[in-house]
Amino acid sequence: MVLAKILLLVVALGFGYWLWRHRAGRHRQATTPPTGTAAKPPQPQPMARCTHCDVHMPRADMVSGHLGLYCSAAHRQAHGDQAPR
Ligand SMILES: [Zn+2]
Repeated sequence: MVLAKILLLVVALGFGYWLWRHRAGRHRQATTPPTGTAAKPPQPQPMARCTHCDVHMPRADMVSGHLGLYCSAAHRQAHGDQAPR
């Protein structure tokens, strides 16, 4: 029955090796994203200040008026401003 023991050992070692490779692969994927795909480093968003309440927020989420940028259309209206044509 020595052969069976050796076979069991080889299977156990193989499984352990597979498990190690599997976990290492997942770890590598988590730390370094693949290049060229959707996983890009987050770009710093340009921030701007609301003319009415001075809150800082991403410029892309703001509404613009004649006098400046606002955090919302309500603040643009509260500041007595209108949407630029
Ligand atoms: Zn505001």
